[in-house]
Amino acid sequence: MIGPMPEATDGKQLSASALALLRTHAKKIFAARGWLQSGLKLEHRPGQENMAKAVAETLCAGESLLVEAGTGIGKSLAYLLPGLMLAVESKRPFVVSTHTLSLQEQIFKKDLELCRALFRLTDELAPYADFKASVLVGRANYLCPQRLVRALQTRMDLFENAMHEELERLVAWAQKTKDGMREELQPPPHYDVWEAVCADSSACSPRTCSPKTCFYQRAKADARDANLIIVNHSLLFALLGAGAGPEEEQSGVLFPDDLVVLDEAHRVPEIASDHFGARVSSYGLERALLSLYNPKSRKGFLAKRGGTRDHALVEAAIKAGRDFFDAVREKFPERKDLLRLREAEWCPPLLDKPLAALATRLATLAESASNETEGDELRDHRRKIAAVRSSVDTCLKLAEEGHVYWIERTGQRKTIVHLRSAPRDPAPQLRESLFEPSSGLVLTSATLSDGTSMENFISRIGAPPRTRAQIEASPFDFENVMRVFAAGDAPEPTTGGGRMNLEWLADTIFFCAGRVRGGTLALFTSHADMRAVAEQIEGNWANLGRPLYLQGRDHSRGDLTRHFAKAGNGLLFGTDSFWTGVDVPGPALSQVILVRLPFENPTHPVLEARLEWVRDSGGNAFAEITLPDALVKFRQGIGRLIRRNTDCGTITILDSRVLRREYGKRFFAALPCKKHTIFTRGDRTKVFQPLEAK
Ligand code: SF4
Repeated sequence: MIGPMPEATDGKQLSASALALLRTHAKKIFAARGWLQSGLKLEHRPGQENMAKAVAETLCAGESLLVEAGTGIGKSLAYLLPGLMLAVESKRPFVVSTHTLSLQEQIFKKDLELCRALFRLTDELAPYADFKASVLVGRANYLCPQRLVRALQTRMDLFENAMHEELERLVAWAQKTKDGMREELQPPPHYDVWEAVCADSSACSPRTCSPKTCFYQRAKADARDANLIIVNHSLLFALLGAGAGPEEEQSGVLFPDDLVVLDEAHRVPEIASDHFGARVSSYGLERALLSLYNPKSRKGFLAKRGGTRDHALVEAAIKAGRDFFDAVREKFPERKDLLRLREAEWCPPLLDKPLAALATRLATLAESASNETEGDELRDHRRKIAAVRSSVDTCLKLAEEGHVYWIERTGQRKTIVHLRSAPRDPAPQLRESLFEPSSGLVLTSATLSDGTSMENFISRIGAPPRTRAQIEASPFDFENVMRVFAAGDAPEPTTGGGRMNLEWLADTIFFCAGRVRGGTLALFTSHADMRAVAEQIEGNWANLGRPLYLQGRDHSRGDLTRHFAKAGNGLLFGTDSFWTGVDVPGPALSQVILVRLPFENPTHPVLEARLEWVRDSGGNAFAEITLPDALVKFRQGIGRLIRRNTDCGTITILDSRVLRREYGKRFFAALPCKKHTIFTRGDRTKVFQPLEAK
């Protein structure tokens, strides 16, 4: 929890003249020849002006707004400037939540500097220039100096020798770090050591620890003092899930009367769903138990604090955990990593009694702990064990109505087993936690609609009827900067999502990518197709002296994109997240090839349950879910091409269904430019004339 904020002044209590003044400022900032243009020499963008007006109106009126702001609108300034002015004026907290770290960094390091520079330009805006902003991440991301000292004192009990060096590294880092955040530490800390020294403990209390020495308390204090608090969606929903938020009679999402903007809002339903469900992993449970007592090394929190009986309880829980997850592993059909659970009591409750006994014993030990800190740590361990027990129980009984349950295996050797659940439809909970208590809420992203309508997103996000929804198109001149080709002779993917004709695909991708001097991003929907095509063209592509980058091989996702951008003439193959997250301006990304239309395979239990639900209610699952979802993802893929107003390039669609099926027209209609050209193997040398920067 972040703790109480300063007494909020309800925006409705701002005088009508103060609100009118804010609206006037917003107008003067974004208008043609307004302060942004004349003062900061930023281009006037009508879409940005419209969005800023809508945001200002919405926040001043305490209402909700969904706004799709196409690439190049400058949406962050369109919400930051009105939000900051209202936050300062009304002394209400302004919360901005993003999905990615890169957007958080852009806001904190670049956009807020622009806001400050603008506020300093004129006397009318000067009162806002000293706004305070802070970034808050989940507390497990901060180093806890108290636990670090304790871990050092008890390292012989806690860790095996190999970990002592890692602990020393953290001690050295602790002396020089300013914020104590895990992400600063390179290489990242070892999981076990970080678990023992991070701030994720109920021992946390500003009563005993001062913000002067504690990174987490300092971050919370900064957030309490700040006008703007930047968080990520994951933390936002974790906090809401843990009961954060104003009292019931007060309005506000995270703080009383807060103003809230969720950017990259297209990810909200999925992230919220994750937090609204249960999740237990074999790895996580074993780690938690071994941190209490490791029978092999005889190390752990209870090594000295507990007796033989306590060690036996932990050992029994470890054994039960292994037996239980072995029994779960046997449920997986061959070559399947996901299995939806449909019948309750699908596995014996082998963990229940051992975890219950351990949790009870930890509670007793906490009562008789020698000091308050030790008692807090024991209660913390008890809470974690009890939470696992409860989640396992929920997943065995398929206890929650409207939830989907499944087991999943991950890891290189597929040995980590997860029990998962998620609401089939997160909309009711989203409405309850975001829209109903809101005192001013904006959800925005570059892609929320299928090109014309936001209906699909509105129903997934749980927005109440009559919530204002607005689409501001990108200011780019797509008719002149984008050329679209569709392959007329592509073999149709077999029904049921079978493999495409890989030889045709490899040949066509090689040809199309080779026709541009700059780089090509090829977006796949299947990892298997992607790897098979890469294998076929890699040698010939390398002979051209051009690099091929393949998702999941050699580099992390971020590094892949960086190498691709730097190469300038590479070929990048990606699936899933590459449809949304790649931002490579300039000729280094001159062409986007859409290998297949992004219809999601209903192999994921949540999607499968959504489709079933629509069918069972007499609806058309393809028309209501599959097609709208694919259109949004298609638009996100297209959106990788033109990132700046100096960019130009080519979209190449290799899925013949776009030409042969009735719904293909919807995909063409979702493109930002009207014309497309069809090419085949026979005429491609003449017809396929891609557009790219000179
Ligand atoms: S408040 Fe104390 S226990 Fe919590 S993170 Fe800070 S130093 Fe650690």
